[in-house]
Amino acid sequence: MYLRCSTCDKELEEQLFPRNNRKPNRNFRGNICLACQREYKKTLNYEACTYPITCTVCKEEKPAEQFTKNKRVPKGRNSTCKECMYERNRIRDKKNANKTG
Ligand SMILES: [Zn+2]
Ligand SMILES: [Zn+2]
Repeated sequence: MYLRCSTCDKELEEQLFPRNNRKPNRNFRGNICLACQREYKKTLNYEACTYPITCTVCKEEKPAEQFTKNKRVPKGRNSTCKECMYERNRIRDKKNANKTG
């Protein structure tokens, strides 16, 4: 029997789903395959690092709080400091503003 995973939207064999799948997890709308569940747990366990990071843009070492959290990266934080992010956005906005008609 095949079930459709509501997360990756693939049809997979029933055995690729957790056994207790009869009770749908409150965090998910429907069935979720083991692979997706593993990924999901990883994001739950993620912790943003607390040690100083060297910004890849200004090359300055700054405290972790100066870097926005990002659970998609291993460190749990972006490697561009908030200041540089802000600066980059400002430049982009300026460019967009110059693009008239
Ligand atoms: Zn899946
Ligand atoms: Zn920076």
